[in-house]
Amino acid sequence: MPAKVFVITGPSGVGKGTLIRTLRERMPELELAVSATTRRPRLGETQGVHYHFLDEAEFLRRIEAGDFVEHAEYSGRRYGTLRSELDKRIAEGHSVVLEIEVQGARQIAQTMPEAVRIFIAPPDERTLLNRLIGRDTDTREEIDRRLQVAKSELAAQDEFSHVVVNDRLDDAIDELQRVVSRM
Ligand code: ADP
Ligand code: 5GP
Repeated sequence: MPAKVFVITGPSGVGKGTLIRTLRERMPELELAVSATTRRPRLGETQGVHYHFLDEAEFLRRIEAGDFVEHAEYSGRRYGTLRSELDKRIAEGHSVVLEIEVQGARQIAQTMPEAVRIFIAPPDERTLLNRLIGRDTDTREEIDRRLQVAKSELAAQDEFSHVVVNDRLDDAIDELQRVVSRM
């Protein structure tokens, strides 16, 4: 398979991280770009593994330096994909997965139209809420903010040529693998 960029987007709590983890177990040749963020690490998150955790000043400096292929504000924090994360992997011939929110996915559509963009949708909003609560990583206030954002993100799913509904996990992974494999 020639090196490709896959953008996986969709609302927080829909299961993007879970799906990507399982997909990469099935397709170990896929590499994941480690994003940068100004949010604080959650319990168990490691610098450079889950994210490059940067402070606001450093993030702004790297925007100015042109280090990001996309970046966005989400729930009061900054998130972005470092060009270096993509370039080194593609240069080595690896396909790369970006797990990003919708504004970033739109930027990639403009700057890298050849990237394959996949929207992960929940079966319904109630399920999304239950997953955010069940994950137990965010305060109720943060969950409410994320659900608010989710409403506009869900309204944007028609912009994506591939939409995978994550209802039963096994079915969603099978479908995601089908999309990725045929590209
Ligand atoms: P995201 O990366 O999109 O924010 P996560 O992968 O962290 O979402 O998933 C949010 C929560 O939902 C996690 O607790 C995860 O275990 C759970 N989850 C993901 N997919 C499913 C599914 N198909 N059925 C039930 N629970 C799921
Ligand atoms: P979380 O705080 O739950 O890790 O991530 C919040 C949101 O930011 C999620 O929707 C996640 O996909 C998105 N995100 C993570 N990394 C990036 C990135 O590099 N760029 C953009 N635009 N969004 C990102």
